[in-house]
Amino acid sequence: MTAGGAPTVGVLALQGDFAAHRTMLEGLGAIVREVRVPADLDGLDGLVMPGGESTTMTLGIEREGLAGPLRAFHAAGRPIFGTCAGLIMLDREHLGIMDILAARNAFGRQVHSFEEDLDLGLEGGPMRAVFIRAPLIAEHGPGVEILASVDGHPVAAREGTVLAISFHPELSGDARLHGQFLEAVGRLRDG
Ligand code: GLN
Repeated sequence: MTAGGAPTVGVLALQGDFAAHRTMLEGLGAIVREVRVPADLDGLDGLVMPGGESTTMTLGIEREGLAGPLRAFHAAGRPIFGTCAGLIMLDREHLGIMDILAARNAFGRQVHSFEEDLDLGLEGGPMRAVFIRAPLIAEHGPGVEILASVDGHPVAAREGTVLAISFHPELSGDARLHGQFLEAVGRLRDG
């Protein structure tokens, strides 16, 4: 954790598509560690929670005793970026790290994937977003900023140091959100 050096970020690697996040983060110059047990969180500057299957991921978090350490990681001011099942893990009914309530598999009969150009206010214009049995944000508290919606349903939100999205930028090859996350991680670390 050298000031100004590459941030060291974790990718929760209990289940799901953590490897694609790892590749994207390493491509941006971050040092990446896969997180499977609480000790893996030590010394990390930020954490990505990938997509996958939220029930399986919940069981893994319980099995490894990771819920408390993940909440403490957040409470210590370290940024977290959750995508898809990772967004579900962050909500009120799971880790309670974000003041949101996720609705699983929420896009009607579109049980497979769909894609959409989303305007997230990023430099370079809208982002191609891949949704796979995606959740939406059904409810959110006043401290949550909604960054983008699909058909009026919020799919991207920020609350303090936490960013949560319903889709999979690690699959579309657009690294801008990961880049923005790493910048926030570096800024907070070097404060
Ligand atoms: N449908 C999955 C769930 O509810 C999430 C899908 C994903 O992460 N791509 O857990």
